[in-house]
Amino acid sequence: MKHANVSIFIPHAGCPQQCSFCNQRSITGQTQLTTPEQVKDTLERAAEHLKEKSHFAEIAFFGGSFTAIERSYMLSLLEAAAPFVRDKMFTGIRISTRPDAIDDEILMILRQYGVTVIELGAQSMDDRVLRQNHRGHTAEQVRNASKQIKKAGFSLGLQMMTGLWGDSVSGALQTAREVAQLDPDCVRIYPAIIMRDTELAERYLSGEYIPMTLEQSVELCGALLEFFEERNIPVIRLGLHSTPELLRDRLAGPWHPAFRELCESRLFLLRLKNAFTSQRILSGSFEIRVAPSWVSRAVGQKKCNVAELSALGYNVQIKSDPLVEPADFVLRSQTQPESR
Ligand code: SF4
Repeated sequence: MKHANVSIFIPHAGCPQQCSFCNQRSITGQTQLTTPEQVKDTLERAAEHLKEKSHFAEIAFFGGSFTAIERSYMLSLLEAAAPFVRDKMFTGIRISTRPDAIDDEILMILRQYGVTVIELGAQSMDDRVLRQNHRGHTAEQVRNASKQIKKAGFSLGLQMMTGLWGDSVSGALQTAREVAQLDPDCVRIYPAIIMRDTELAERYLSGEYIPMTLEQSVELCGALLEFFEERNIPVIRLGLHSTPELLRDRLAGPWHPAFRELCESRLFLLRLKNAFTSQRILSGSFEIRVAPSWVSRAVGQKKCNVAELSALGYNVQIKSDPLVEPADFVLRSQTQPESR
């Protein structure tokens, strides 16, 4: 059964400051605070719509700093959601919050209300980058909160960003290494996008901050995706969701509606090139068989993978084959015996 989330956004609630890049109201497409009644309505409608599939779905509070919001408001949201978990209509509650808003008391409260997954916005493990972007917490607080969450038996999610003001490719790779050491159950990777009404927008307009290009970001995030996949850490989100507000308020930065697919496509090309190199194949004509769902990734946007391989001397034809696993491929030379 496919896993699903019923997402409830609480934009900026609980945030003690404004991070340099953040305009949650545009990112989530929501400007008003969610009320407990709205939570109940949303979940009743979702349970009705999902029917028996809801038994495999989670309730997710996203878009703010859940455990830092005013205590009685936080409890009212949990009280609205908890009966749906108690009655086994949903599997549990997932929240996202700040690393400096986790302690033993809050973990006990979250457990009582059926929270199962806690995601922390780590963003960077470099204190200088965190300071420059007004995150208001340190890398040490990410480490401590992660350990407390795991020790208390919750699933841990960690979110990191690439291309922040003052960060670099090597900085992002170091953040990924430190994030992996914390043994998260999942990660999310968000390239920094410049939204209107943010400090990053001001720095961009004054020429002080230059965002990564889409190509640079795809290359970096493709490498990060591979890094986490090799360690069996699921990357459950890569790039921001498209919302009308995001499209309206985005000033610049490496955003694409199919960002993850671009990264996977780039990774696929690298793996294919490696296969040619490791088999000492210098040129020729080849048939590449891939899972049906991977044909467009294998071909690349505007056939860019096919064109790049052709420029290197490999003429490839991509074929759909239901017997091939997603992300895998079967390479057949049209002049030599099959190799894999
Ligand atoms: S803590 Fe999260 S929601 Fe709050 S301003 Fe920073 S990025 Fe935005």
